[in-house]
Amino acid sequence: EPAPAPQTTVSEPAATLRVCALYPDLMNIYADRGNLLLLRRRCEWRGIGFELVPVGLGEELGRAGEECDLFYIGGGQDRDQKLCALDLAQVKRDGIHAAVARGAALLAVCGGYQLLGHSYELGEETLPGVGLVDLETVRSDGPRLIGNVAIEVDLGDGPRVLAGFENHGGRTHLGPGEQPLGRVLRGHGNDGRSGFEGVRRGNVIGTYLHGPLLPKNAWLADWLIARALGRDEPLEPLDDTFESAAHVEARRAAGA
Ligand code: GLN
Repeated sequence: EPAPAPQTTVSEPAATLRVCALYPDLMNIYADRGNLLLLRRRCEWRGIGFELVPVGLGEELGRAGEECDLFYIGGGQDRDQKLCALDLAQVKRDGIHAAVARGAALLAVCGGYQLLGHSYELGEETLPGVGLVDLETVRSDGPRLIGNVAIEVDLGDGPRVLAGFENHGGRTHLGPGEQPLGRVLRGHGNDGRSGFEGVRRGNVIGTYLHGPLLPKNAWLADWLIARALGRDEPLEPLDDTFESAAHVEARRAAGA
């Protein structure tokens, strides 16, 4: 009598979100680590596990490069960005490219966003980027681009608004084939002129929006969690009373 065929099981969606925080000490201007806190809470409230793997200067990505679902890098001052840019380009570049190629999500804010492309030109010096998207950033002699900002984005489920705060000296220019994250409703965006903000390629998002960004725009946190875990179905809804109030207030501050 042949043994019964093993029961085929539909593979369960991953039950833990593994997040790699790149340079969490250096790249954390305006408390950008609040983005990580919000991701943790929204996972935990749904019974999704959350693992944070901080990877700092000089450290190889190692297993984080192979196993993490979401990579995060916050904003930073030019001085700190310099250290990170070289490390990113020399120590972590291949691991990050491989992770993104296998579908991992990546969120980069401001100083981190400026390092996603080819280069960040700072007067005499040009910092290398990690080369994930076709963009370059140039430090301008003009005024810093500062203020509350609102942009309209469409990540596949219709137009939505992201609200936040920007403060950057660099101007970011996207290459011709690259899509911005959104259209500026209020504020400056990538360069103060193009009317575009951020970059999006697949699961990679770069933006100038601080706030931190995710507590003011919880829907984007959910989009990232779902994409990082490869889920097609929307995540279980949460009581977003406070998150909605924060979003409305951020939009109001931006005048949008
Ligand atoms: N140092 C960069 C600039 O001024 C980014 C600053 C930031 O992350 N807010 O352009």
